[in-house]
Amino acid sequence: MDRVIALRKKLVEYELDGILVTGPENRRYISGFTGSHGALLVGKDQAIIVTDFRYITQVLDEAPGFQLRRQETDMLSTICKSILELGWKRVGYEAEHLVVRDYLLLMNGIEDILWEPVTDLVSQLRQIKDHSEIEKIRQAVALTDQVWREVSTKIRPGLSERDVAFHLEMEMRRKGAQGPAFTTIVASGPRGALPHGLAGERVLAPGDLVVVDFGCILEGYHSDMTRTIVLGSLDSKQREIYELVLNAQLTAIDGLKPGMTGREGDSLARDVIKNAGYGEQFGHGLGHSLGLEIHENPRLSPSDETILAPGMVLTIEPGIYLPDWGGVRIEDVVVITETGCEVLTTSDKQFTVLS
Ligand code: ZN
Ligand code: ZN
Repeated sequence: MDRVIALRKKLVEYELDGILVTGPENRRYISGFTGSHGALLVGKDQAIIVTDFRYITQVLDEAPGFQLRRQETDMLSTICKSILELGWKRVGYEAEHLVVRDYLLLMNGIEDILWEPVTDLVSQLRQIKDHSEIEKIRQAVALTDQVWREVSTKIRPGLSERDVAFHLEMEMRRKGAQGPAFTTIVASGPRGALPHGLAGERVLAPGDLVVVDFGCILEGYHSDMTRTIVLGSLDSKQREIYELVLNAQLTAIDGLKPGMTGREGDSLARDVIKNAGYGEQFGHGLGHSLGLEIHENPRLSPSDETILAPGMVLTIEPGIYLPDWGGVRIEDVVVITETGCEVLTTSDKQFTVLS
């Protein structure tokens, strides 16, 4: 119940009698309940989970510290009824997770309640991962590395981008992943200039650079990695861009440490790419946190002033994208430590030429 205690401290800070937690990952983080339907009501002395018939046994098993409230006619009226019984007057709700329809039903459902939108209250707690979370991410990353080692050697001209994605996703499932962390990106040849080029019909050709970005979900936690490979012989331009991106990535890994802001972390790699004249071609942030979601805060980006702290888990993924030519991106997952960062991803980053 450590996480409930941490949440209660936030309630005092925000002067709330209680909070309604409806974001699925936040619900899971605070209670342990992994089901797809339910809401939490957490107050100074209460920790209640509202769900329906399908999840009764699961809640008792996964969230033993929570009092179970079975949904009556519908979820929202049960929530309103519970809040009335609790006598709460100032109630927080997760503005980023409540759709307008539900918000209006709640507003109209009970009178004399002050509803306070609280954005990112629970997700702030999730920014620093505890030991068990880091271990789960480490395992998800290890699974992804293993899949890459096996599948990457089979990538060759004649296969379509979709074939490559299919092999990666199948191997992830075979090795025990719950599923892919996001739609697998395989962007070959000129399509590599699309930073989020989903695997399509294009057939891989000799000389292609291929950007492969994928990850898995294991016990609710995400992994995320990108490697760029070349099929057959590589030309000097491909080598130049690859080495620049790799250098930027290694420089960031070397320099990233607690106490820095997300912006300062981003600039470690951005300066290397800018100084080489490709600043405009690196149009996205250097990285994002991950955990129960694939994209979490803080980010390594020019606009993130969050101070990095030990236990944060982030990607480092610089890229250069040249229209009509292609792209290179290299992405690892790191954990911020007391003195720097530890790289969880172990897949090789030297230029891989496959014939
Ligand atoms: Zn990625
Ligand atoms: Zn990523």
